Amino acid sequence: MLLTITSAHQPASDLSYLLHKHPDKVHEIEISSGVAHIFYPEVSETKCTVCLLLDIDPVGLVRRNSGPRGNDFALEQYVNDRPYVASSFMSAAIVKAFSTAMSGRCKDKPELVNVPIPLEVELAAIPVRGGEAVVKELFEPLGYTIQMERHPVDPKFPEWGESRYFTLRLTNTVTVQHLLSHLYILIPVCDNDKHYWTGQQEMEKLLEKGKDWLPTHPARVFIALRYLKHQRSLANQAMAMLLKDEVTEDDEEGRTEPEQKIRVHDLRLQAVRDVLVKANAKTVVDLGCGEGKLLKLLLEEKQFEHLLGMDVSYRSLEIAKDKLRLDKLLPKQRQRIELIQGSLTYRDKRIEGFDAAALVEVIEHLDEPRLAALEKIIFKYAKPIDVVITTPNAEYNKRFGNLAAGQMRHSDHRFEWTRAEFQQWGDRLAELYNYSVVYKLVGEEDPEVGALTQMAVFTTKDTTIGAQRFLSYGKQ
Ligand code: SAH
Repeated sequence: MLLTITSAHQPASDLSYLLHKHPDKVHEIEISSGVAHIFYPEVSETKCTVCLLLDIDPVGLVRRNSGPRGNDFALEQYVNDRPYVASSFMSAAIVKAFSTAMSGRCKDKPELVNVPIPLEVELAAIPVRGGEAVVKELFEPLGYTIQMERHPVDPKFPEWGESRYFTLRLTNTVTVQHLLSHLYILIPVCDNDKHYWTGQQEMEKLLEKGKDWLPTHPARVFIALRYLKHQRSLANQAMAMLLKDEVTEDDEEGRTEPEQKIRVHDLRLQAVRDVLVKANAKTVVDLGCGEGKLLKLLLEEKQFEHLLGMDVSYRSLEIAKDKLRLDKLLPKQRQRIELIQGSLTYRDKRIEGFDAAALVEVIEHLDEPRLAALEKIIFKYAKPIDVVITTPNAEYNKRFGNLAAGQMRHSDHRFEWTRAEFQQWGDRLAELYNYSVVYKLVGEEDPEVGALTQMAVFTTKDTTIGAQRFLSYGKQ
């Protein structure tokens, strides 16, 4: 079984530093199922490829009593697909061969660890229960481009049909550490079989290796269930731990505006709606839509032909579905709106190509590295004509009687910015991604501290984006 990783980052040989494996040597590592060989078939200035060749000993496996189950058919223990495909044995080999890289250490070039680099992975044969759709569901939200080829059961007998084995090529710009952790978890998830007992320890491995990306992966429940071999109670425990930070919008409302009786959140939503109406947007994506309150307002305006709500929280989306009464809408109305689960920290084609994007009280829920990812996802990839962002104005907090100095409005807020901080952030993004930006305050304005909420409205300066959309409406 062969796994190759190719880097086009320059100098390409940096890959060998990151993997802690010298490119001039052939490394051999004993693993419980056999031997893993690591070597570099190509190292040049522009390209570096490393191979992990797994040589599984099926007889040894049975002797060590860790082989696949199937005692009712004795031969199956010796003759099976395990030596030839990517499975949990491959994950075990990855973690043993590249443990330093997986833990995010690099002795000689520590500055490289957090740098995303262009990487291509090839798995010569991987069994996938559920086929192409499952591979897409697992890898696309993490930003991978997928190429896959399904193999027939036997090329000599086409009537036997397709097998569940694929050759899989994945490309992405990611850190080596993340790439390895993606493969470590998702290879056995594709295969949906595991060679060892799944218990508490497995759950801990999942939590540890997936901590940077699994909590916001749209298929996280599916991943946890398959990884933990369908032991729902373990999967639920894992999810509870991964999602302990998730908040509901009602929590937030309760604490954000402790003193104000008027529905400040409604004011905020109306202000966003007004901006979108004025911008003449026809298609809007509401990112971090929560329980769908903005969508509800927008649905009332005929101008909006297509509305998409995205949130990472499945629970919020279920509530949104109810509140928007999606099941009861007439077909013509129903076609105008869609809700999807997704994360703003991974590139997602579904949110690209909209006239406008709204992020109402969302950015402050993301810590710095995630916010940096979000900036790129929105301004570099999704590229709406207009982007409306609201966030708390920290200066206003001193007007709340029950907030101590420096305390934030909600326990899940990672930051709350002053007007100057927000504008500094917005100006930087506008400059970097060729947008213009204006700032507004929402709510009653206090001469000293401003208003409760601050808003930035970005508009692209790239006229080709606007023109393309315009033409696609057939307005000409
Ligand atoms: N925009 C809504 C909800 C605001 S609460 C409103 O104003 O009514 C913040 C929302 O952001 C929550 O629903 C939370 O689930 C969502 N969120 C947090 N991190 C996210 C992420 N990485 N991707 C998508 N949604 C996210």
